[in-house]
This record gives sequence, C-alpha cells and structure tokens, in this order.
Amino acid sequence: MITQNVDGLHFKAGTSREKTYLIHGTLEKARCGKECSNELYSYPEIFLDKGQELTKDQIEILKCKKCGHFLRPHVLWFDERYNEKYFKLDSSMRTAKETGLLLIVGTSGATNLPQRIVESVLSRQGIIIDINLKENYFSEVADKKKNGYTLTGKSSDILPEFVELFKKLDTAK
Ligand SMILES: [Zn+2]
Repeated sequence: MITQNVDGLHFKAGTSREKTYLIHGTLEKARCGKECSNELYSYPEIFLDKGQELTKDQIEILKCKKCGHFLRPHVLWFDERYNEKYFKLDSSMRTAKETGLLLIVGTSGATNLPQRIVESVLSRQGIIIDINLKENYFSEVADKKKNGYTLTGKSSDILPEFVELFKKLDTAK
C-alpha cells in the first residue's frame, strides 16, 4: 500500500507496517528540525488547557535529544521534495513498475508522486481504478484511458466488494 495519509489510521486498522509506504510521512513520528541525524522519535505528546503555557520540561520534550534543536513533525510539507530516505520515493516507483492493478482510493491526486505512480502503471498497460466520492484528477485520467476505470462512491462500500471478488477469484483457481 502506498498512502498519503499521515494519521496512522491504516495501522490502527491492522495494515502491515512493512508493506505500507508512507509517502507523506506520519504524525506518529518527529525528527530533528535541523536534520542532525536521520533518527525518528515518537511524536511528543503534550496536552495544554486553553491559555496554559508550556513548562520548561515540556519545551525540552519538543527538542532533539542529540543537538537541542526543536523537533518537527515527520511529514512532507508543501515546499519539500519526496525522497527515498523518509518518503520511499524509489520504492514507490519500483512498486508501480510491478503493479498490474492499481486501486486509487479517496485522493484528489494533487501531488506529484501519486501522479507519477499512476502514469507508470498506465504506461505498462496496468489497470487503474479510481474509487472516490467525486471527480478528481485521477478520474479524469481514467476516463481518457482504455485501461482506466472510475467507481463513484464510498470506499467503505466499494472496497469490501473487491475483497469478496478477490476471494472468489482465489477459490476459483
Ligand atoms: Zn538534532
């Protein structure tokens, strides 16, 4: 799975961490804002009441343990580039090359890497199926290609049907 979600909900739902590429990072982790190392830390959890100020100890929790610079969320910000080290750029493109059927679920397609993944699958005659509540960049791409399909609706309704279909195909072997 290649996901743009940063909320960690895939893992709460039981998706394999090993098989999931978090191409926009995750809010479960933080890293040094100065990049003194590649180390990822658990996201600091600090809860404040309205108007309450951070204590000295809480400010320390927000700092890199190695260099003292402030931590930052381990997510891709708007002006930043994809890379392999943090965001599995090369792994995602490699996976795209091996993909015969790509389900695109609930994304508007507004960022560059997902677009490249879809182009890569289509260029190798793979099938793309865009599953979304409304029209988006990928549904427009799918409509123009003979190997592109669009399913309009909730992913929570449509995906279970795929699971059933694949189970049937599997037992029919
Ligand atoms: Zn640091």
